[in-house]
Amino acid sequence: MVDVNLVLRSTRVITPEGTRPAAIAVSGGTIAAVLPYEAEVPAGARLEDVGDDVVLPGLVDSHVHVNDPGRTEWEGFWTATRAAAAGGITTIVDMPLNSLPPTTTVENLRVKQDVARTKAHVDVGFWGGALPDNVKDLRPLHDAGVYGFKCFLSPSGVDEFPELDQEQLARSLAEIAGFDGLMIVHAEDPHHLAAAPQKSSEQYADFLASRPRDAENTAISNLIGQARRLGARVHVLHLSSSDALPLIAAAKAEGVKVTVESCPHFLTLTAEEIPDGATEFKCCPPIREAVNQDALWQGLADGVIDCIVSDHSPSTADLKTPDFSSAWGGISSLQLGLPAIWTEARRRGHSLEDVVRWMSAGPARLAGLDRKGAIEAGRDADFAVVDPDATFTVDPVELQHRNRITAYAGKTLHGVVTSTWLRGAKINDRGTLAEPSGRLLERNN
Ligand SMILES: [Zn+2]
Repeated sequence: MVDVNLVLRSTRVITPEGTRPAAIAVSGGTIAAVLPYEAEVPAGARLEDVGDDVVLPGLVDSHVHVNDPGRTEWEGFWTATRAAAAGGITTIVDMPLNSLPPTTTVENLRVKQDVARTKAHVDVGFWGGALPDNVKDLRPLHDAGVYGFKCFLSPSGVDEFPELDQEQLARSLAEIAGFDGLMIVHAEDPHHLAAAPQKSSEQYADFLASRPRDAENTAISNLIGQARRLGARVHVLHLSSSDALPLIAAAKAEGVKVTVESCPHFLTLTAEEIPDGATEFKCCPPIREAVNQDALWQGLADGVIDCIVSDHSPSTADLKTPDFSSAWGGISSLQLGLPAIWTEARRRGHSLEDVVRWMSAGPARLAGLDRKGAIEAGRDADFAVVDPDATFTVDPVELQHRNRITAYAGKTLHGVVTSTWLRGAKINDRGTLAEPSGRLLERNN
């Protein structure tokens, strides 16, 4: 084997064929081969033996709001990608809104790429945005390398990113289906939201009542109908309502091109535990009851839910006022997704292989990142090395997020990321982060 410069060895390497002792040979940032543990280290190659720590493919988080430029005080490419690296994530795909400009034209995409270029500690791709008036921009954005398009069906929370009504959704979907693109959708129905009781309150129950399950169920049902009619590929973002799982399962069985993600907060936090005024727990759709969470885990076990991604959507502390109706909605968790999910997954009898399927292979497949998401020859040498039995208690000051507000503060979690590797280079060594070496990714390159 020529030009192997690194061999990463562990008694537990998670490959698509299962977990086994292995030596991963890396050449030029790419996995050259996954060899038996005892394989001889080629001359000139450096050996890193991580013992019994588990080597996972680097995680892929396809739902991150970096907000840069424009709302960089909320987050930014420097801080977000450092948090990702610290959390075992080697690729993020940035959401098109909350930055100024939003990623809704090729010109705007270039502005964002220019800002990200020197700050990326992990690889960064971009979603485009579908607005009522930018159908003409969708094809050029696709050609420029975005991984798909995000739209809202209810107000997004920011004026510059208006939602689509059903007719506008159909028009954008038809355009995107024309080039076999992907539409990713914030699915809450605006009519159901408008009909729900809305009131100023510091009590979580009032907020929960204002974002009913029906809003999600109806929007998802309509979306599936449109995808079926137009032959379009659609993805349901941040599923919270477990009531929609049978709809999605039936649509998949019937051949409708629909996928779905859920998020660590829906899978590890419950409405019952949220204190009054604790708006670090506010997001839309909302965290629901424990019984709903159990059903979401069943959806993961059944394969109806394809992936788990953070929906990291931070803001400054001043926007997290105690009134749930007016506080900024968004939960900050980029650095904590893996341990949060692993802690709950192991409690429910799932394996780290399951976690890899949901948090690395699944999101990579969703975005079409075919060099990511698995430890096998030909893929990028991106790894998260984890001590799955070690625990830590979340102290917000240890987070790399720009704003150290998190719904996970004080939680004791299993799974310590001991190192993170990007294309064969160690970018995180027990929390010490290397200089930026991330690349800006474009679809099909
Ligand atoms: Zn989001």
